[in-house]
Amino acid sequence: MEATVILARCPGTGELYGMRTERTPDGDWRRNWAFPVSARQANAEGYDKTQIRGTLRCEAGYPGCPYCGAANLVQCGRCGRLSCWAGRDTRSCPWCGARMGDFQEVSEVRVSGGDM
Ligand SMILES: [Zn+2]
Ligand SMILES: [Zn+2]
Repeated sequence: MEATVILARCPGTGELYGMRTERTPDGDWRRNWAFPVSARQANAEGYDKTQIRGTLRCEAGYPGCPYCGAANLVQCGRCGRLSCWAGRDTRSCPWCGARMGDFQEVSEVRVSGGDM
């Protein structure tokens, strides 16, 4: 089973977390775990370099964001980073500060590495 970790940031706290994802037999990716990480740890583990493409749906039992519990994700239209989506209260991207008023919940994302 191919598995990797992708990073997201929680808009409420600005904190990082990793989401463990596994590749399904049809080549899609499913999230099944989430855990807090520090920027240093993410960098050391190479989580910021992960590149995957898929719907990133959550499996049953996915615990949600470790800070706010949200299971849904949005992808920033400016920086392409992921953050959890807790609903209307999300106003700006916790990575780059772009306003998130028009954001949609992601259906398919292409995640690529880059600076934190
Ligand atoms: Zn969150
Ligand atoms: Zn952004």
